[in-house]
Amino acid sequence: MATERTLSIIKPDATRRNLTGKINAMLEDAGLRIVAQRRMQLTTAQAQAFYAVHAERPFYNDLVSFMISGPVVVQVLEGADAVAKNRNVMGATNPADAAEGTIRKAFAESIEANSVHGSDSAENAANEIAFFFAGTDIVG
Ligand code: ADP
Ligand code: MG
Repeated sequence: MATERTLSIIKPDATRRNLTGKINAMLEDAGLRIVAQRRMQLTTAQAQAFYAVHAERPFYNDLVSFMISGPVVVQVLEGADAVAKNRNVMGATNPADAAEGTIRKAFAESIEANSVHGSDSAENAANEIAFFFAGTDIVG
């Protein structure tokens, strides 16, 4: 297994409920290292651009509104097989389908307000990390 990096976002439903620490503990317990992290308020333009791949989906406008509804915590996670490892600890998109022990099972409020984002491939991870972080922000 190669050491990889992936982009994670703690979403506004989770920051609102003060869950950053509990989610970070689950990420760390899963074997991921937080090598960069920033709390920020996304602009509409940033949320639209970040989720541009979903622009044609019926939930796109709601998703953008949700993502700017409060602060997020953007983070770079590092570890063996980090992309897949993070997807595993996140759980399924819809919390009704998420497995026990996953972040979304524990904390997600709905299919939209599902507490965390995680890159879905190594290629997307590289692009998503570059969207938020300069190389010098990341300390492995
Ligand atoms: P994931 O975050 O698990 O990779 P997707 O990339 O398919 O899921 O969707 C991106 C985000 O859009 C989801 O995390 C969720 O916040 C939102 N979303 C996905 N599907 C729906 C839906 N059917 N209704 C409302 N929001 C959705
Ligand atoms: Mg996705």
